[in-house]
Amino acid sequence: MSALGEILARRIAAEGPMRLDHYMAECLLNPAHGYYATRDPFGATGDFITAPEISQMFGELLGLALAQVWLDQGAPARFLLVEPGPGRGTLMADMLRAIRAVPGMQEAAEIHLIEASPTLRAVQRARLAGHPVTWHDGIETLPEGPLYLVANEFLDALPIRQFERRGAGWAERQVGLDAEGHLTPGLAPPVPLERLAGRLEDTAEGDVVEICAGAVSFVEEVAQRVARHGGLAIFIDYGNWRSLGDTFQALRAHAPESPWVNPGAADLTAHVAFEPLAAAARAAGARPSAMTPQGVLLERLGITARAERLARGLAGAVLEAHIAAHRRLTHPEEMGHLFQTLAVTPETAPLPPGFDPASPDPL
Ligand code: SAH
Repeated sequence: MSALGEILARRIAAEGPMRLDHYMAECLLNPAHGYYATRDPFGATGDFITAPEISQMFGELLGLALAQVWLDQGAPARFLLVEPGPGRGTLMADMLRAIRAVPGMQEAAEIHLIEASPTLRAVQRARLAGHPVTWHDGIETLPEGPLYLVANEFLDALPIRQFERRGAGWAERQVGLDAEGHLTPGLAPPVPLERLAGRLEDTAEGDVVEICAGAVSFVEEVAQRVARHGGLAIFIDYGNWRSLGDTFQALRAHAPESPWVNPGAADLTAHVAFEPLAAAARAAGARPSAMTPQGVLLERLGITARAERLARGLAGAVLEAHIAAHRRLTHPEEMGHLFQTLAVTPETAPLPPGFDPASPDPL
């Protein structure tokens, strides 16, 4: 077992089973042994690859979407350009390059990154050299001002709890020890839960429902700021409208593995449920868009025209990789449909480009 595995096993032996969100937070963010705290997990030699690392087109198109919204909202002379969980800084670098084409926009942008990992902060600092950047541990310390925020694969890293349906109650999944002292999942006794009362209608005995309180409170805070000062937030992640089923997964060297064997050494994620995020945005006084598939969004933002333009300068294997990247980002059988997007704007602002309006009363 990993060093962190031994620490957690000792804690469970002394204190009893751990909640899944506490386990996930330790595995990802423990300062000495956590996954993000200790490494750069991206790329071919890492554990996974994300859309901005697949192609520069991803960040360019999102940057231009932000530019359209900035112009639509009166081109404020100062605004916060914010990315939570910026990984290697590639998305931010690509967005900044794209918005350079819009007079005055880059000068108006104050760049703020929310990043828990010291290792990745160093990578971001190098990648964004030449741009003044402020780092934050969380959203609370962001200054006030019009907020332009893009979050790609950030919410899926926030810790979840899982509940298994038992009659009219819910048994929480937790992490305990087996007879040999190895970490193993178990269930707490079922209890009725007010916050899952609405899910008794669309679930059956044994179904699993996930709750990510961190994602909901993050979106709520973002939406309050957008409602107060204007701007836009775009959330992109794999997920669905509503949580149903166990989506907790561990990934190491591009392959899934058991989340209990190598705590701290594998990436842990869960699918994002967008309905609670849209509801939080609306409750905060902002306007959520409809959930829109990534492939549809990128097509509407013009990825095909951009791909053709870039292809003109390419040949051979590089051209083939470029064509494959376009397909990977947009095709329904690749990331195009698995990944979903949600935009949040002030109630009175025009809808951002590429997004469908929410149906009148979806919640
Ligand atoms: N957006 C990037 C990286 C996604 S990986 C991309 O698309 O490539 C998740 C990122 O979120 C990493 O940078 C990780 O260090 C960061 N992260 C995870 N949990 C976090 C937390 N609780 N607070 C701040 N950053 C976090």
